[in-house]
Amino acid sequence: MNIISVAIDGPSGAGKSTLARSMAGRFGFLYVDTGAIYRTIGLYAWEHQIDPKDAEAVTAALPEIRVELTYGEDGLQHMLLNGRDVTGEIRLPQISLYASAVSAHPAVRTYLLEMQRQLARTRSVIMDGRDIGTVVLPDATVKIYLTASETERARRRMRELEERGTPQPFEETLADIRQRDYNDSHRPVAPLRQAEDAVLLDTTDLTFSQSEDAMEQLIRERAGL
Ligand code: C5P
Repeated sequence: MNIISVAIDGPSGAGKSTLARSMAGRFGFLYVDTGAIYRTIGLYAWEHQIDPKDAEAVTAALPEIRVELTYGEDGLQHMLLNGRDVTGEIRLPQISLYASAVSAHPAVRTYLLEMQRQLARTRSVIMDGRDIGTVVLPDATVKIYLTASETERARRRMRELEERGTPQPFEETLADIRQRDYNDSHRPVAPLRQAEDAVLLDTTDLTFSQSEDAMEQLIRERAGL
């Protein structure tokens, strides 16, 4: 069987993870959440009081950081930080901005690049992030740039945080999203942008189920499935 790779990029809160996970189920592909990898580095900086914006300090810490991605019996992706399962902790709202700050440093991106590529070598994957179609998997079979209006993304992120038991007011959620979008699209290395050969999917006016169907159809068409 052909190895297929689906790259999904886009700004924070566009619904990449939820949709990618759903597509992985529909197609039987492995789902790789690359944001979780950056979050794991962000968590390390947070726990060790390292200024995430300080490139030198973050780079110096890298040899102390062992990041592993495993799949539990539940089939879900788990992140290990120096052997400790941090899958839950990396979702705390304060870690989002830390992840965004550490991810701007070239040394961090280089450190994590091969790990991400390796995952797509031997099996079909659906991988989401900010630079999957542009940098990590430039030859991906299907590239989708998923977006939605800023307000809609903030609303969705707010609901998600609420469900996780770590609620945050709307204004704060919106401000975080804006800050991360700015960081992610203005960094010199691997900035967030739509790959030239990516299809744009705007879900502002779509329900979740409509977004799922739209994405499934796109994947089928582009991958010839
Ligand atoms: O996708 P998620 O919101 O979990 O990602 C957390 C942060 O990690 C993003 O704001 C972004 O700065 C960074 N990231 C990245 N490249 C990726 C995935 C995530 O820079 N491929």
